[in-house]
Amino acid sequence: MSHVVVLGAGLGGTIMAYEMKQKLRPEDKLTVVTLGTQYSFVPSNPWVAVGWRQPEEIAVDLVPAFKQRGIDLRPEGAKRVEPARNRIELNDGSSIDYDYLIIATGPDLAFDEVPGLGPDAHTQSVCQTTHAVQAKAAFDKLVRTPGPVVVGAVQGASCFGPAYEFAFILDAALRQARVRDRVPMTFVTPEPYIGHLGLDGVGDTKGLIESALRDHHIKWVTNARVTRVEPDKLFAEEVNDDGSLKTTHELPFTFSMLLPAFRGVPAVAGIEGLTNPRGFITIDKHQRNPAFNNIFAIGVCVAIPPVGKTPLAVGVPKTGFMIESMVTATAENIASLLKGSSRRPSQAGTRFVSPTSATTASLSSRSRRFRRATSTGRRRGAGCTPPRSASRSISCARCGRARAKLFTKISCSTCSGSRSSRTFTSNLPNDGGI
Ligand SMILES: Cc1cc2nc3c(=O)[nH]c(=O)nc-3n(C[C@H](O)[C@H](O)[C@H](O)COP(=O)(O)OP(=O)(O)OC[C@H]3O[C@@H](n4cnc5c(N)ncnc54)[C@H](O)[C@@H]3O)c2cc1C
Repeated sequence: MSHVVVLGAGLGGTIMAYEMKQKLRPEDKLTVVTLGTQYSFVPSNPWVAVGWRQPEEIAVDLVPAFKQRGIDLRPEGAKRVEPARNRIELNDGSSIDYDYLIIATGPDLAFDEVPGLGPDAHTQSVCQTTHAVQAKAAFDKLVRTPGPVVVGAVQGASCFGPAYEFAFILDAALRQARVRDRVPMTFVTPEPYIGHLGLDGVGDTKGLIESALRDHHIKWVTNARVTRVEPDKLFAEEVNDDGSLKTTHELPFTFSMLLPAFRGVPAVAGIEGLTNPRGFITIDKHQRNPAFNNIFAIGVCVAIPPVGKTPLAVGVPKTGFMIESMVTATAENIASLLKGSSRRPSQAGTRFVSPTSATTASLSSRSRRFRRATSTGRRRGAGCTPPRSASRSISCARCGRARAKLFTKISCSTCSGSRSSRTFTSNLPNDGGI
């Protein structure tokens, strides 16, 4: 019998628990340690912030969901992981032992790195649902007393998609409230150019997003280092490509939402061999920590190096699709180890999987299933059976219906809106799904 523990039940940890459970032997045990008993769908937070969703509409009670699947839930949260003892100390003083640990603790939000930043100070956030609820109150105030808006991300951030998404959501919500003409909007970002996204652009994201910002009358400042925020004013330094100071900006605002830099959560930060200096879990291509071979990590908590040099720190985003691939690779690899092999991934006999190979395998099996479905005339209409993984996590881009039956590359059975499997890797404005 082996005890597998998943730490963190967010987007990655929850699907990790489901997928891992399917791979375990009957005698194995699976426990999820998380903070509280609710799962909240982070990508829908921007909708909560303008009132397009209520918090309860994007939350799931994990108690019945896990019970139904035979997964133990420990909602106390982890105080400290102790890898040398294969143990986690929980916040209530108790502890839990594990044979395999999968860390999925997401980000710690580094608001403290910029004076005046964050929902406890002067700017709003959509990183957590409670923040989005607070942002909604500020949004309502903005509608009552319109004034300038500053949206964006600060230096060291790695999640630019939601910042752009929120700018466009805010634009639409302010139009609906008929006050947009009294709200000058500015997008502030450490990216060297609009649409860099921490990936040095994806296709023509520079041109496309610049054009969309212009169309929506949103100005921007790139290469921006936010130095401090006062109750109604943001101070930023714009730097040149060599990092030297180009100019300074003082941007007054009535409402501001800025994404912070991320770092690893305190329960894992600073553990030698486990984390990098920022507290992110170091992993090999099999999602496994090189120092502690029974620890794997998935999601935002893993260390991924930047794609290239930029004047200001700009991190690589970890999107839902990437996280799904990490989950599949981890489930396969732990299942492989449980099948009796303690060999290293590179040794013969153990089929170790990396997220890339997991993605390729799962995409090719999805496309096989899709081909089967289309060739038997089941492409659309009642009684169609979409691939499970596609229907599980995406919503239709046109009608927004979550969990609508979708084929991987074709259409929503409700409205026939199309959505390719690749589009849900990025943050599509107003779609609320991944
Ligand atoms: C506003 C926003 C919108 C996004 N939109 C999209 C999108 O549209 N498409 C997309 O692909 N990606 C999107 N992302 C990126 C990414 O998909 C999400 O951030 C996703 O939630 C990351 O999943 P995760 O499991 O790594 O972290 P999280 O979902 O943040 O989950 C971490 C979990 O760990 C728990 N935890 C933390 N500390 C402890 C502890 N000490 N003990 C126990 N549990 C702990 C937390 O409570 C939480 O439940 C978005 C991100 C943000 C911030």
